[in-house]
Amino acid sequence: MNPYPLGLMLAGRRVVVVGGGTVASRRVPALVDAGADVLLVSPEVTPALHGLADAGRLRWLARQFDPSDVDGAWLVHVAVDDTVAAAAVSAAAEERRVFCVRADDRHAATAWTPATTRHGPVTVAVTAGGDPRRAMAVRDAIGALLSKGTLPSVPVREGAPPYRGSVALVGGGPGDPELITVKGRRLLAAADVVVVDRLAPGLLLDELRPDVDLIDASKIPYGPARTQEEINRLLVTHARAGQFVVRLKGGDPFVFGRGGEEVLACADAGVPVTIVPGVTSAVAAPAAAGIPVTHRGVAHELVVVSGHLSPEDPESLVDWPALARMRGTLSVLMGLKHLDAIAASLVANGRSPDTPVAVVQDGTTRAQRVVRATLGTVAGEVLAQGVRPPAVVVIGDVVTLLPAANPSSI
Ligand code: SAH
Repeated sequence: MNPYPLGLMLAGRRVVVVGGGTVASRRVPALVDAGADVLLVSPEVTPALHGLADAGRLRWLARQFDPSDVDGAWLVHVAVDDTVAAAAVSAAAEERRVFCVRADDRHAATAWTPATTRHGPVTVAVTAGGDPRRAMAVRDAIGALLSKGTLPSVPVREGAPPYRGSVALVGGGPGDPELITVKGRRLLAAADVVVVDRLAPGLLLDELRPDVDLIDASKIPYGPARTQEEINRLLVTHARAGQFVVRLKGGDPFVFGRGGEEVLACADAGVPVTIVPGVTSAVAAPAAAGIPVTHRGVAHELVVVSGHLSPEDPESLVDWPALARMRGTLSVLMGLKHLDAIAASLVANGRSPDTPVAVVQDGTTRAQRVVRATLGTVAGEVLAQGVRPPAVVVIGDVVTLLPAANPSSI
């Protein structure tokens, strides 16, 4: 029996996801992006899913599945290996006439997730009689036609030279999955192993082949985190085993991304590295909010600065008094925690308290929000409005030049 294809409008509708491993990590971003009211049921979840829960993008019940969890749901995704547990979820869904996708056994499922690719407003979804590799091959061919207008060249064979035994450090862009570079996307599609950060655009993971080894290297504050040494070790070990490793990072790999350390670790181990620059949030988040970081006659300089340490911190390498004297644009990353001290230091060292400031949270994504204030008021505004990381603080006269913008929806 062939499935009947359908596009589900999930905005505001409950979708229950049972299981919190890598399969769920791959499926959930697309559900969240579709605006679904995602209820995740699993005693444990990956750091990426934990991050989505912390950010309020989904609700997580940290326990075993109960049949009543399906009450009120429109769709159920089972992403657990245990067939008996999966069957119990299926049965609860069937009883309530809710469609159920099963990662463990598609033939026991009442709904299939097709292989998909998104090109702006066009979504291509392919099923192939239960053969996911064939579905993905057709999806990839159509995807290439859509992006290039030509037939795709022969796909890169896994582990084939020159990829074999190397690492690509790929900037994933600021959040909108279409803001990865073409090269980054191509290398991601050729990866055997992907080591991903929390800030790398989650929607890109939805397109990975199921046999790709997806390693979550999230550095979630106060949460379980692998040390940088462990990440370096993973890159080197997998590359030495002959695999093509893509290290997917948020924004640009060399802008506060510790990409340099990873290159050094690979170089020390004799592992070849390719660096694929990315669109940095330092520039892209302001841009998506309608703020040009430079403008003729207004700002002839742009300084990108890390605010992860307070200006008073003796470890800080930032010359805040010098930044206060400049009249151009400051783009402060990781600056929310110490925003009060940063703004106070700039004012104390001569920058006007009336200088316009914008704080762009989740820039370029559907969740983007912008708080506008001045140097004198911004810390209070950010607190009052509950702005959360990731956010870029952009300071300077460029902030008020253009009408406010939303992330591109075309
Ligand atoms: N390499 C990344 C930056 C890593 S540091 C880049 O080039 O963009 C992490 C900081 O980047 C966050 O604390 C936040 O200040 C900023 N950031 C990353 N993604 C963002 C986004 N979508 N919107 C706003 N700020 C973002």
